[in-house]
Amino acid sequence: MPAPMRRLVVLGATGSVGRSTLDVAARHPQRLQVFALTAARDADGLLELCRLHKPSIAVLVDEAAALKLRAALTAEEIPCEVLTGAAALSEVAAAGEADIVMSAIVGAAGLLPTLAAVRAGKQTLIANKEPLVMAGRLLMREAARSGACILPIDSEHNAIFQCLPPDYRCGESPRGVRKLLLTASGGPFREWSAEQIAAATPAEAVRHPNWSMGQKISVDSATLMNKGLELIEASMLYGVDDTQLDVVIHPESVIHSLVEYVDGSLLAQLGQPDMRVPIAHALAWPERWESGVGGLDLAALGRFRFESPDLERFPCLGLARAALRAGGHAPNLLNAANEIAVERFLNGHIGLSQIAQMIAACVDAGLGVHALQSDELEATLAVDAWARDWCLRELPRFSKTATLHAESARLHA
Ligand code: NDP
Ligand code: MG
Repeated sequence: MPAPMRRLVVLGATGSVGRSTLDVAARHPQRLQVFALTAARDADGLLELCRLHKPSIAVLVDEAAALKLRAALTAEEIPCEVLTGAAALSEVAAAGEADIVMSAIVGAAGLLPTLAAVRAGKQTLIANKEPLVMAGRLLMREAARSGACILPIDSEHNAIFQCLPPDYRCGESPRGVRKLLLTASGGPFREWSAEQIAAATPAEAVRHPNWSMGQKISVDSATLMNKGLELIEASMLYGVDDTQLDVVIHPESVIHSLVEYVDGSLLAQLGQPDMRVPIAHALAWPERWESGVGGLDLAALGRFRFESPDLERFPCLGLARAALRAGGHAPNLLNAANEIAVERFLNGHIGLSQIAQMIAACVDAGLGVHALQSDELEATLAVDAWARDWCLRELPRFSKTATLHAESARLHA
């Protein structure tokens, strides 16, 4: 009997992960049909994807962009319904016609649609790590309730999943595991001094040595906050605490992560640094499909390097581990403050070093106010909004000029 056709929703279709997902899906037209594609405001990008993948529904959150897309689709006689507004993201994620949902929006904006997919029991492929950091317990609880199968796309978490027993399901505590080891490339500033890092420009921060990714995750990789968010993500997906999680710098980005078992065995997953590998794994799971990516020439690679992360030059990693240890809403506060700080860094308002300063101050202030909040959705969104307001209100304290004044006062004291 031929395998059934499954219908795919790609949230964040115009982004880096979204496009890689569609590249893999297009290689398997007998197995996957694109049901819906979504983006925030990139009407031209979504139009191009509608021409190629012929979804039944396209969503643009921005209303003017949706009008533009609708007019272009009509002019080209491409049959596709265009929806607009943030609620439409959750609507397509939970639609009866959808079987698999790829969650690839960037940031907290992905929380509600990801939750909608999980609550509707969809097979949910999670690249969008921020919702797991904000509300990991809630998402995993809802998945257990609805029976939704969660498959990790982040390359490290996908590698770990591949190194766990075949009957393992996300949310369970893995048997016989001593540690999960997340690898990190070290980012573009791995060999830079603290002074050089402090003076880094946005263009330098988004120039990742091994991976081609969206702007926000590229800055997160430069500060190592990406690895910090991934520690929290791993804790939520795999039900382990921070004592069972380690980070090792591996500049080649070929070993994507490892599982250490209690008998001393370490299992690793290797592959080229191309997101189509974990995406194909999760789209095909539990089978294996062609992804368009070749293997590795190990002899040409020659050797792999490993080193410990430097928490002095990269304080964001320590902040994230501390937030994981503190629990409650600390990860949620950390995530919101990081999103604001990264946006302000990209806009040139603050320097790279102020990202960690702003996050530390916001988590500190927020824990005083929100220590006893529940982890349900309403409280999660309220804490997220509080942290964003706090950062915007306190921004002048962290601006480049404020830091220069403080530095010159210190030198002249
Ligand atoms: P991109 O910035 O390339 O793409 C983001 C996508 O989300 C775009 O489609 C964008 O639409 C959409 N989007 C942005 N804001 C909103 C919003 N408010 N509402 C609805 N949609 C929105 O991001 P990446 O693909 O790099 O990353 C996506 C997620 O995957 C992130 O959480 C990242 O951490 C994670 N991830 C990414 C990896 C990578 O290799 N890129 C690897 C592992 C994880 P528009 O184009 O219209 O702005
Ligand atoms: Mg990753």
